[in-house]
Amino acid sequence: MSAKLIDGKKVAELLRKQVRDDVDFWVSDGRRRPFLQVIQVGTDPGSTTYIRAKTRACEDVGIETGTDRLPDTISARELKQIIRGYNTNDKVDGILVQLPLPSHLSSHDVIESIDYRKDVDGFHPMNVGRLTVDQPTFRSCTPAGIFELFKHYSIPVKSKHAVVVGASNIVGSPMAIMLSRENSTGKATTTICHKFTKDLTQHTISADLLIVAAGQPNLIKGEMVREGVVVIDVGINRVADETSEKGYKLVGDCHFESVREKASWITPVPGGVGPMTVAMLMKNTLLAAKKSIYPEES
Ligand code: NDP
Repeated sequence: MSAKLIDGKKVAELLRKQVRDDVDFWVSDGRRRPFLQVIQVGTDPGSTTYIRAKTRACEDVGIETGTDRLPDTISARELKQIIRGYNTNDKVDGILVQLPLPSHLSSHDVIESIDYRKDVDGFHPMNVGRLTVDQPTFRSCTPAGIFELFKHYSIPVKSKHAVVVGASNIVGSPMAIMLSRENSTGKATTTICHKFTKDLTQHTISADLLIVAAGQPNLIKGEMVREGVVVIDVGINRVADETSEKGYKLVGDCHFESVREKASWITPVPGGVGPMTVAMLMKNTLLAAKKSIYPEES
C-alpha cells in the first residue's frame, strides 16, 4: 500500500476562502473588520517565520492585524501590562502571544493574563477547561485543523483507536481531549504517549489513527505502524541538508517513506498540518470578533 496524501494546503485554502467570505459578509453592513493583535518577545527566527505566515493569512482573509515586537529583556510585569491594555481595547478581538517565550517568562502566567474571550490560540485554562467538558470554546488551532482534515477526507474517528504521540499543552493534550471527548467529532478510544511511555511501538502498532507531535525527526518508522493506519504528522523539524540553499530542510516526526508504505492516508511535511493551524487561527479570530463563543452578556 502507498498512502494517499492529505493535502493540508488545499484544505486550508478552502477554509480561508470560507473565512474571507464570512469576513466580507460581517463587514458588509458597516461593522469594523476583525482585529488580531500579535505579540512577539525576542527575535527567535522560527517565531518570526510563523508570525509572518499568520499576518499574511490575516491580510488574505481581510482580518486586520498588528504586531508588537518586544525585547527579550521585558519583564513579566511589563508584558502583562501590555496584554491587559489589549484586553480592554474594544478594537482588539484576538490576542496571540507567539511561543516560545524567553526562559525568564512563564508561558502559563502570560497566557493566563490574556482575556480568555480573546484567546484565539485556545491556550487559556478557561478555554482548555471548556474543551475538557465538551463546551463551546476556542479550540486549539492545530488539533482543530486536524479535525477539519478528517472531515474533508471523510476519515472516521468515532470508535477508532487513536494514538497521540506527544502530550504538550498546545498540540498533544488538546488533540487527545478532542479525540476522546467531543461528542460531535470525536469519541475515539484514545491513547496518549510521551517520553515516559514504555515501548512506544506497542501503542503505535495498534493505532487506527496515529497523530504524532513529538518534535523528533524520524521517531515513527514503518515497522511501528499497522497496514491501513491514518497518519497525521504534526512535527516540523529542521534537519541539515547540504543540497538545499538554506542548508536545511523541514521534516516531520515520521520516517515518511516507510510509514507511507503501510498507511492509507498520511500528511506530508511541509504542506500537511501547518497550513491548517494558520487557517484555524483565522477562523477563531472571526469567532472572537463575532462573539460567537462568548456572547456579550456572558
Ligand atoms: P513539545 O516539545 O512541547 O512537546 C513534545 C511532546 O512530545 C511532549 O509531550 C514530549 O513528552 C513528547 N515526546 C518527545 N519525545 C518523545 C519520544 N521519544 N517518545 C514519545 N513522546 C515524546 O512540542 P509541541 O507539542 O509544541 O510540538 C511538537 C512538534 O509539532 C514540533 O515539531 C513542533 O514544531 C510541531 N508543531 C507543528 C505545528 C503545526 O502547525 N504543524 C504546530 C505546533 C507544533 P513529555 O511530555 O514527556 O516531555
